[in-house]
Amino acid sequence: MNIGVLGAGQLGRMLALAGYPLANRFTFLDTTGHPSAGIGEVIILNLDEEPDRRHLEAFLEKVDLVTYEFEHLPVSLVQAIEEVKPVYPSSEAIRVCQNRAEEKALFDRLGIPTPAYRLVESAEALEAAARELGCPVVAKSVTEGYDGKGQAVIRDPSEAADAWRSIKHPRLIVEAFVDFVREVSIIAVRGRDGQVAFYPMAENQHLDGILRYSIAPMPDLDDSVQQTADGYIRALLDELDYVGVLTLELFQTRDGGLLANEMAPRVHNSGHWSIDGAVTSQFENHLRAIQGLPLGDTSARMPTCMVNVIGREGEAAEILTLPDAHLHRYDKSERPGRKLAHVNLLAPTHDALLERVRACAALLPDAPAPCFSFE
Ligand code: AMP
Repeated sequence: MNIGVLGAGQLGRMLALAGYPLANRFTFLDTTGHPSAGIGEVIILNLDEEPDRRHLEAFLEKVDLVTYEFEHLPVSLVQAIEEVKPVYPSSEAIRVCQNRAEEKALFDRLGIPTPAYRLVESAEALEAAARELGCPVVAKSVTEGYDGKGQAVIRDPSEAADAWRSIKHPRLIVEAFVDFVREVSIIAVRGRDGQVAFYPMAENQHLDGILRYSIAPMPDLDDSVQQTADGYIRALLDELDYVGVLTLELFQTRDGGLLANEMAPRVHNSGHWSIDGAVTSQFENHLRAIQGLPLGDTSARMPTCMVNVIGREGEAAEILTLPDAHLHRYDKSERPGRKLAHVNLLAPTHDALLERVRACAALLPDAPAPCFSFE
């Protein structure tokens, strides 16, 4: 089976690494001009040259089915591919997930709670929404935002005009600022036959909108909270007739409740712990799902923490002296804010795990101090 992947970054690289044991081959379609997967075959599609049919056709000829690792693609491109080859998950999932307004409307329709929000199309409407919702609020561009880009926190309605200018987008979503206890995510996978498996939820620590640490399972998570999250993501998977891995990022509030932030129609950084920490990784399960194979066990082998390596790399030889540490490098050059690698650390107890996480953070030049809600 030759699997076509839309996007050619580290997520695609890790999909391929999980697929080689299943005798899969990979062809990546890159639309950014900067592919970094580093393995498989990469075809570059120039989106400015309408239509770049030659490269698209070369890609389609090679692949048996298509999936993606990057959702900021024109929906019309995914729909055109869908006419020729099976695409999992479908273009409908990508259409919804690349637009925060569509995403929130879907959450509303399925009864999945979210922070209170408004949609605005002018600086004046942004100011009015900030007053109505009560500051602080977070303004986000409806499309094209990721890793905290295209966002601004407004602490007083008078800041709305500056925020509007800084985001430079014609349509924004404005959300009440959630006083969360922690940020969490739920990852689930749905097979072609509708079978669903859920990973244990992860607690995620971000800095400047970029994920730094994910820990799973959480030592203090009530079963009922996991079941609530499972119910939310199942509703999304079934509604979208989704095939593959889906991620839902949530805020957990003081009363234990969950508010949905956003979803990603793909394998996710907060699921990288599963490569070493789960019986079946998110990458392998995504590949199993899209090929119509049975899903693998999603349970955790041991408490696991994923430490992102951002901007500058530490010494691999030092990191690898830590017990049960697994370094996954993406073969990229160093640049501030760039995801270069991650380290998965495992330990028999959460206390022992936190010690290893601190030791690992001390070896990474730009790592913030790890700080989990249950410490
Ligand atoms: P996003 O791109 O929507 O995931 O936002 C990036 C980060 O900004 C999140 O991981 C949160 O840390 C923070 N954030 C986003 N929306 C809110 C909100 N409504 N309330 C509080 N923090 C938020």
